[in-house]
Amino acid sequence: MKQSMTFIPTLREVPADADIKSHQLLLRAGFMRQNASGIYSYLPLASIVLKKIEQIVREEMNRAGSSELLMPALQQAELWQESGRWYTYGPELMRMKDRHSREFALGATHEEVITSLVRDEVKSYKRLPLNLFQIQSKFRDEKRPRFGLLRGREFIMKDAYSFHASFESLDDVYEKMFQAYSNIFSRCGLNYRAVIADSGAMGGKDTHEFMVLSDVGEDTIAYSDTSQYAANIEMAPVINQYEKSGEEAQSLEKVETPDQKTIEEVSAFLNTAKDQIIKSLLFKVDEKFVLVLVRGDHEVNDIKIKNLYGASVVELASAEETKQAVGVLPGYVGPVAVSSEVEIIADMAVQAIVNGVCGANEENYHYTGVNIERDANVSQFADLRFIEEGDLSPDGQGIIQFAKGIEVGHVFKLGTRYSEAMNATFLDENGRSQPMIMGCYGIGVSRTLAAIVEQYNDEKGIVWPAAVAPFQVHLISANAKNEVQAELSDKLYADLKEAGFEVLYDDRIERAGVKFADSDLIGIPVRVVVGKQAADGIVEVKVRKSGEGMDVALSDLTGTISNLLSN
Ligand code: ATP
Ligand code: MG
Repeated sequence: MKQSMTFIPTLREVPADADIKSHQLLLRAGFMRQNASGIYSYLPLASIVLKKIEQIVREEMNRAGSSELLMPALQQAELWQESGRWYTYGPELMRMKDRHSREFALGATHEEVITSLVRDEVKSYKRLPLNLFQIQSKFRDEKRPRFGLLRGREFIMKDAYSFHASFESLDDVYEKMFQAYSNIFSRCGLNYRAVIADSGAMGGKDTHEFMVLSDVGEDTIAYSDTSQYAANIEMAPVINQYEKSGEEAQSLEKVETPDQKTIEEVSAFLNTAKDQIIKSLLFKVDEKFVLVLVRGDHEVNDIKIKNLYGASVVELASAEETKQAVGVLPGYVGPVAVSSEVEIIADMAVQAIVNGVCGANEENYHYTGVNIERDANVSQFADLRFIEEGDLSPDGQGIIQFAKGIEVGHVFKLGTRYSEAMNATFLDENGRSQPMIMGCYGIGVSRTLAAIVEQYNDEKGIVWPAAVAPFQVHLISANAKNEVQAELSDKLYADLKEAGFEVLYDDRIERAGVKFADSDLIGIPVRVVVGKQAADGIVEVKVRKSGEGMDVALSDLTGTISNLLSN
């Protein structure tokens, strides 16, 4: 591709509203432009990289037995009403009406469409399993679109769905998809981990997320320092490792704590360690009030509450709701003598606190000498807190550490969540009607592109790994006005393409310095500069990654480039 004829609008300045590397560099290197918040045009270079990532995805999905199809982005509301998600998906689903006032959604995901498709065609176990995928733009009206392609409102996703007659068959395909994903992200050159994730509202069981390790990741991964264990912290269980101290139980005592509301304040005021304080937070669990207790030095994990109750919505009660339910504003809430309308649950660690401190449900007062099983009506002790660095690993091997990750893929056992709601059944070997068992498997293709840039850059620009680079060779004619140089450059452009290389040719009438800076920014693995030694049949070859440069005779050029690319 000749640079004079294509569209690569590079920028010298860092765009003001881009605060992470991939967002800045993809704008600066002329890969994309924003149209509206979370909505981008992919310019020619990005378009090529996306095609390369998609090609890797296609090859690995096909190899794992999945067939490509393409479903509509425009989806009837009726399908979403059948699954129930029309009412639960919320404002992230882009909804619209056609000219007859019929309601539609722009596809955020395709469980409904594919389930209806397969339901109408597949009637017998003999046609199962079935595994289908597509690569397509998805639409989600994200609350906070940000970080460029990492969280867009229109983005490219590969989504696959599998249908089965048995759970063994689902397990088998899940395993194959897991392997395909590992191959895909390895081939993209990414440093990633597959982590155990929360199955959440999807209602499935087994689920893994593929996380690209990066400080800008929005997810936190808890991993063991000695074993293979890795999980999204949302979901990592905490081992019950707490023991009561031998201290003698004291009696409950109400003490004045004027204006002391936070754990820090109470801890300092009463000269008590934070792990002796019982933090009491009122939650609304599907409209029901639940008082949740954790140790003062721990954080409540609302996903664990959600899973404990099988609830769909868990949120912190407002100050007014708290005042109504327990008679005091947040800051002095505690579990002693709470109305029986409010259920109390506590983290396992709270059970082991001897002579603790908690709010007295009265402004400016706390209790000391609290022994939870004696003093409060706790209905259940369970694992309710976030795991922390330094905790034992849930698999019993090693200590937990944290890392940040960007979720680029997700494999998920759906079970019969959609087939039951939408009546997608098949006749089994005994002629009995059964709901199909399903799995779903997503990859954020445009997010993956950004994740690669996040891991592959330096102070000068992007440094593409060869497998997904927009071109393999950046041919630059240092002075396009010089006839000898221009002629040799034109010839090399033809020869290198002939030899099978993907070449971007900077034939622009520009200063050499501008061309080199753009080339560093764009990040093509190998640069070939036709300069002053052109007359002697010598060009300069430079490796983008190491910055290493060498003079190469024309006769050695293709061999040298091949070697550099395969390393
Ligand atoms: P997240 O937790 O980041 O919102 P999700 O759980 O909503 O992701 P899925 O519904 O599992 O994501 O979608 C499959 C894949 O699509 C994700 O693994 C991610 O790589 C990608 N993806 C999801 N939302 C976005 C988005 N707003 N922009 C870009 N890619 C996205
Ligand atoms: Mg999301």
